[in-house]
Amino acid sequence: STVIEWHGKKDVRVSQRPRPIITDDTDAIIHVTSSTICGSDLHMYNGDMKGMKAKDIIGHECMGIVESVGSNVKNIKVGDRVVVSAPIACGQCEYCKTGMFSLCDVTNDSKVMEKLYGHRICGAFGYSHLTGGYDGCQAEWVRVPFADVNLLKIENNRLTDEQVLFLSDIVCTAWHANVMGGVGPGTTVAIWGAGPVGLLSVMWAKYRGAKRIFSIDCIEERLAKARSQGAETIDFSKVDVIDTMQKMLPGGPDVCIDAVGFRYTKGLVHKIQRAVFLETDTPEILGEAVTVVRKGGTIAVIGDYFLTANMFPIGAFMEKAVTMRGGQLYCQSYWHDLLKIIENGEVDPTFIITHTMELSRADEAYKMFDEKSDGTIKVVLKTAF
Ligand code: NAD
Ligand code: ZN
Repeated sequence: STVIEWHGKKDVRVSQRPRPIITDDTDAIIHVTSSTICGSDLHMYNGDMKGMKAKDIIGHECMGIVESVGSNVKNIKVGDRVVVSAPIACGQCEYCKTGMFSLCDVTNDSKVMEKLYGHRICGAFGYSHLTGGYDGCQAEWVRVPFADVNLLKIENNRLTDEQVLFLSDIVCTAWHANVMGGVGPGTTVAIWGAGPVGLLSVMWAKYRGAKRIFSIDCIEERLAKARSQGAETIDFSKVDVIDTMQKMLPGGPDVCIDAVGFRYTKGLVHKIQRAVFLETDTPEILGEAVTVVRKGGTIAVIGDYFLTANMFPIGAFMEKAVTMRGGQLYCQSYWHDLLKIIENGEVDPTFIITHTMELSRADEAYKMFDEKSDGTIKVVLKTAF
């Protein structure tokens, strides 16, 4: 069966493998109907994510049909149509029990991460041996551990794959950014990055009643999508973000969301930052966010960071009484509620989809998504049945 393998920097290949089989009695095997490429996959694609081995199967956002279940799976049946959670949770540990599923203590036994971060981090599909070494779901078939916990049943057949697919990751991720930021009625929000995660963060900020939403990026097609969701936009390649934000919203936004992460593109470095930071060390987005955020405001870091970011402006952070929160999505805590909102037609996350391609063309799709060429924002990969 078809799988997408990582072979090295900018080198992913379509390949053939035997179908996965049940190895634990809580597993399910899913016949994948749709999967996608996520900004997180680009960290591997660009060779920045450590712990990868040649031929690792990648991908962590998918849905499909349950083909078989282990003897200890209680709530999921063969033939169910399901969305798969990107983070793999056990459902039993102290973190899972309190709804913090992406902090699961059980699903990733990487000793390296435990040493680096002082604690175990959660497992994830298709995301290197530092997150458990699980085979990914950019594939025709995928094995899902703890199937009762990591699968969401979609009972309403009027919903298309495209409408619910992103519940596996980015719809929940963008919601989590809004939750961490405390976005609610009347809030002002600035969101760095108008990729799929940033755009869905705009969608949810609007839904939650934000008064003004600012979207910051340098790609016009993406900024146009942000405007279509009600955001005001700033092109960081043309204007200075700090000066512009201060002019557009004196006093600063209540909430800043970093939906970019550590692979940011350097824009214009503000003169104040240039004076105090080493150019090479400027943590651009966090530096901008700490500077513009309202006193007493909140910064939510949903873009991925790995290890360190130097020269964090801890002075402004401390003196301005800023709250900063980070984290991976709590998929299983959110997806039931968010599914209802989608089902009711209150939001439509499909506005980010620009391309639909066959899984067997994933190598091309990666290149387009990485280069942001041909207006690419989100690519859905379809399995040919
Ligand atoms: P993407 O690469 O499509 O989008 C990133 C966007 O940021 C691009 O449009 C880029 O032009 C823009 N950008 C780059 N530098 C910038 C700057 N200095 N200022 C403002 N914008 C800038 O990726 P995506 O799919 O939207 O994912 C975004 C991030 O979210 C990634 O780091 C990804 O790993 C992370 N992520 C986190 C979680 C989580 O649970 N925490 C889940 C999914 C994805
Ligand atoms: Zn993702």
